[in-house]
Amino acid sequence: MDITFTSSDYNVIELDHAWFIETSVDRKEVDFFRNLLNQRLQELRSEAGKTVEDMDEDENFPDPTDRASMESNRNSMLRIRDRERKLIFKIQEALRRLDDGEYGVCEECGENIGIERLKARPVTTLCIECKSSQEMEERKARRIV
Ligand SMILES: [Zn+2]
Repeated sequence: MDITFTSSDYNVIELDHAWFIETSVDRKEVDFFRNLLNQRLQELRSEAGKTVEDMDEDENFPDPTDRASMESNRNSMLRIRDRERKLIFKIQEALRRLDDGEYGVCEECGENIGIERLKARPVTTLCIECKSSQEMEERKARRIV
């Protein structure tokens, strides 16, 4: 019997070990979240491609009024693309955490985030308690400014 491990076998063993120790997310759920995140990533990438095509088409309006509305379209598109880029980055980070066995652990307090919260927000890095106190801090900061 061949018992030589390839590097990917080794990763799976490491991952199992990390999950067993660190999180309440089991192997089946790792696959679930990996699929979910990869799917979302693909959707976003095809959306981003579409936005670029739309922007190119806008270049064909020579009328100044059209150009003004084109500018505001362009600005809102740039905002959307910026959001998309940030989300793509967050998803890539989440996938990295899945590989490292850190997924599902709150980066603030180190507690498990909880499977239901992860299903609702797969890219989150904070448990609900840390997220609420962070939002409270942000609201306080905005009131001061
Ligand atoms: Zn926390």
